Amino acid sequence: AKSTGHNMYCVYEKHMAESINTHLTLGGGLRKAIEEEQFVLHYQPKIRLPDETVVGAEALIRWEHPELGMISPDRFIPLAEESGLILPLGEWVIRRACDQLQEWREAGHPPVKLSVNLSSRQFMQVNLVDMVEQVLEETGVDPKYFELELTESMLMADAKQSIEKLHSFRALGVTLSIDDFGTGYSSLAYLKKLPIQTLKIDRSFINDLGLDNDNDAIVKATIQMAASLNLNVIAEGVENRSQVDALNHYDCQEVQGYLFSKPLSNVDFLLYMQSHGLS
Ligand code: C2E
Ligand code: CA
Ligand code: CA
Ligand code: CA
Repeated sequence: AKSTGHNMYCVYEKHMAESINTHLTLGGGLRKAIEEEQFVLHYQPKIRLPDETVVGAEALIRWEHPELGMISPDRFIPLAEESGLILPLGEWVIRRACDQLQEWREAGHPPVKLSVNLSSRQFMQVNLVDMVEQVLEETGVDPKYFELELTESMLMADAKQSIEKLHSFRALGVTLSIDDFGTGYSSLAYLKKLPIQTLKIDRSFINDLGLDNDNDAIVKATIQMAASLNLNVIAEGVENRSQVDALNHYDCQEVQGYLFSKPLSNVDFLLYMQSHGLS
């Protein structure tokens, strides 16, 4: 038992050392990567129910590392947050997303809405609203097609200031969505105070649809609550037909997930819209 314990300790230590190493390598490369624009946005279609046409997309960042290849955001967004580099990186995402919306429009496609994710440090940035306003003006994007995805925890940090900020975004005409909904502690009373338009039900609830009655009741209640508050609701992480059936049954308006499409490059997203989009 003693030697097993020792081996496990070594494995654990080696794993730790490796992750600390990648942490340092990635962290050190991040500033240069921003200067050299080694990033790309992928777009995951948002599908309207029950007709299943594409009505939008979520922009998801990837790092095209010259040596390590494609790196997922879960691995570098936390580093960017710690170092503060999330501010220039986050601005790049917003500009890229708005440019992309205009490029799709110029390609002759009926407009779709595009959402970007904000991180908490970025949300706290004092000139965030001005920056977004400026980007919208410079790119000529109609704000109603631009959506921000925020999390509950982001808003709880400084509730009063957050609500003011959300109102400023609304005044610009930007749409606001609560991401990973259900994983935080928002009460119905709190939600009513927020000038938001969309609830995005967290993937963990969608995963268990049809497998657990209590979970199904939560999803159903969330959709009903959203309807009574006049909010749009989207389910994320939809991977199979029985989940879609359940969500249709509960009158969920939109879905997103691997069943329909993984996040796509800009070219592949255009093709996807041509075959599954609005005409
Ligand atoms: P998120 O905002 O909750 O995004 C959803 C994640 O779930 C994405 O992972 C997406 O590819 C994945 N996903 C979509 N459909 C399915 C499905 O059917 N099954 C499963 N298992 N997964 C699915 P991704 O692209 O790796 O992004 C991870 C997280 O990184 C995002 O979670 C978001 O929090 C963050 N992120 C991504 N892009 C940005 C960005 O531009 N800025 C900031 N601040 N955060 C970002
Ligand atoms: Ca999101
Ligand atoms: Ca999410
Ligand atoms: Ca998430």
